[in-house]
Amino acid sequence: MASAEAKHVLVVEDEQHLAIGIKYNFEAEGYRVTLAPDGPTALALFKDDPSAIDLIILDLMLPGMSGYAVCEALREAGNDVPILMLSARTLTEDRIRGMDVGADQYLEKPFDLDELLAMVRNLLARRGRGPVHASRRKLADEFEFGGAKINFDTFKVSVNGRSLRLTSMEMKLLRYFIENEGSVISRAQLLDDVWGLSGSPTTRTVDNFMMRLRRYFEKDPAHPRHFLSVRGAGYRFVSREEEGGDAE
Ligand code: CA
Repeated sequence: MASAEAKHVLVVEDEQHLAIGIKYNFEAEGYRVTLAPDGPTALALFKDDPSAIDLIILDLMLPGMSGYAVCEALREAGNDVPILMLSARTLTEDRIRGMDVGADQYLEKPFDLDELLAMVRNLLARRGRGPVHASRRKLADEFEFGGAKINFDTFKVSVNGRSLRLTSMEMKLLRYFIENEGSVISRAQLLDDVWGLSGSPTTRTVDNFMMRLRRYFEKDPAHPRHFLSVRGAGYRFVSREEEGGDAE
């Protein structure tokens, strides 16, 4: 990574005055900034060069194609560029949905430019460092359990020889479980450490993601042996099969 080079931030925002305000402020901080007024323009930039952009500031409400759809399209294409989603909405569901489609951070409008700058700095630093959280286990890029082979560097995942494609959020969650193998992890802890939300009133998202991990990795998702439910407490991952009761 050429750290001496200016980080290239893409701002996808149709409100021109806001986009230009962000551009000036970020350029003053030494960033290189490109503006895109809509989703298709943004996605076209990635088609030309998937690694040209270091971070995206993505507005949720865009004409034609929503920020969600842009985010989803990038993640489905296997691009894990950090995405900071902006939204005028205040509903937690929107925030959760943003995270579901693979956004890394979420900031509500109106926001303070210093806060935005700080979030961008953190996201970029995090990316340079690798995993977000202090791992209890030093994880190699490759990990195997059951019939699963996972490469966290290339995002290649296979189960019994069959290739799977996981979203970046699914990979994050999987990695977190593997790094914390054997520990009981609460939904709230997962939201804090993996999604980066604190005090969220809903944990449905976590359960949906657990369902997906089980579908990918369990022989019988209804009777998990690796991604275990711990009643009233949360979840626990074990690489060696264990009796886990039902999937709840
Ligand atoms: Ca907008």
